Amino acid sequence: MRIPVREVTPGCEKAEIYGYIHEVRDLGGLVFLLVRDRTGIIQVTVPKKKVAPEILDAVRDVSRESVVRVAGSVRAIDKAPGGREIVPESFEIISRSESPLPLDVAEKVPAELDTRLDSRFLDARRPRVSAVFHIRSAIVQAVHEFLYSAGFVNITTPKIVAAATEGGTELFPIAYFEKEAFLNQSPQLYKQMMIGAGFERVFEIGPIFRAEEHNTTKHLNEATSIDVEIAYADHCAVMKLLEDLVVSVYAKVERDCAPFLETMEIEEFSVPKTPFQRLPYEEAIAIANRRTDEPIRFGDDIGTAAEKAIGEEMGDHYFIVDWPTAIKPYYAMPYEDDPTLCKAFDLMHPRMELSSGAQRVHQYDLLVRQIREKGLNPESFSFYLTPFRYGMPPHAGWGLGMERLVMTMLDLQNIREAVLFPRDRHRLVP
Ligand code: ATP
Ligand code: MN
Repeated sequence: MRIPVREVTPGCEKAEIYGYIHEVRDLGGLVFLLVRDRTGIIQVTVPKKKVAPEILDAVRDVSRESVVRVAGSVRAIDKAPGGREIVPESFEIISRSESPLPLDVAEKVPAELDTRLDSRFLDARRPRVSAVFHIRSAIVQAVHEFLYSAGFVNITTPKIVAAATEGGTELFPIAYFEKEAFLNQSPQLYKQMMIGAGFERVFEIGPIFRAEEHNTTKHLNEATSIDVEIAYADHCAVMKLLEDLVVSVYAKVERDCAPFLETMEIEEFSVPKTPFQRLPYEEAIAIANRRTDEPIRFGDDIGTAAEKAIGEEMGDHYFIVDWPTAIKPYYAMPYEDDPTLCKAFDLMHPRMELSSGAQRVHQYDLLVRQIREKGLNPESFSFYLTPFRYGMPPHAGWGLGMERLVMTMLDLQNIREAVLFPRDRHRLVP
């Protein structure tokens, strides 16, 4: 019976394993193979004089990254990975790999990110790459656990839509029979409509599509967004929810993913402490102006250089709050006592923005006015606006970028490393 490599211990008398040939070392009288499955690597030691000739033939013939079956006795040995080895009683090549390999899975030869992504299936055989996606999976699970236990309902909203969420140019048009349609930038309007449907607490983890013009290390054209919306809540309540969620995700990774963190050589994994600092927008731009040579004024966006400078000063996760109404979307709620500012926030990691959220406008007239003030036509949003005329609870929510969460947590240099098959301007295959 097959057992995972990690579970092969000197205590097992016999073991049968399946995996890839990670390495072959022929020392004349002795051949060492390393066999890898998703749980680890084990040494298979073949003393040429002591094994059956058909085993020796197969071992001599095998190429790296071929899939094999090995069965034999287990021995304790200090120098081998995991302190044990298998001496084969049978050895079978199940699927032979061609050589040379497009990519060195054993990582002796470094590869550029582009080469790695071209051969992603091989790249993902590398333990440190595989670790990223096992951790990402644990993050998705942690988010589900956190939100379900907080009483959220999981929804799925359309990705083919007729109108832009926020207007703007970041849209991918698609051919949809005789109509014009787009890939959705955000589930924003739909999750708000489900607040109008009385669901009170909804979440969705799904793709968002953005026709980002520029090639950057933190933008994808297809990303994954963790989106929530809550009725009878303000921006403060959903900021608290967001920081608690981030902490609980980190805590789960620390608790359950130790072997993967070790594989990635992340020695100091720390769970951020709540509450995260709340930094008013005005103070944020003051910090940026102190630390950079590119002055920004009230009402400007916080660009990459400013983001970095502010992050260096803050040192850990923080929120930027009290944004100018003019630079946030029409659905952000202005403060009653000063409508030039709104109840929007961004969650920041010192390296970059992770999430944007706000208390939303729930009053129909105000919403229509704000849509007009952004130069958009309320008529193209009538499917969204109608629910606001038939009883809309006050509500708030946010969208958190999954890839940026993974990237910042694991200190990845490029967002493309946090997604299996990234989509960018130049990459549509694989
Ligand atoms: P940025 O200013 O960094 O481009 P944004 O403010 O345009 O981001 P939002 O519309 O606020 O992005 O989307 C919410 C979150 O979704 C972002 O904070 C980010 O984590 C994630 N996100 C948005 N666009 C992208 C993208 N192109 N690639 C990866 N993640 C994205
Ligand atoms: Mn944003």
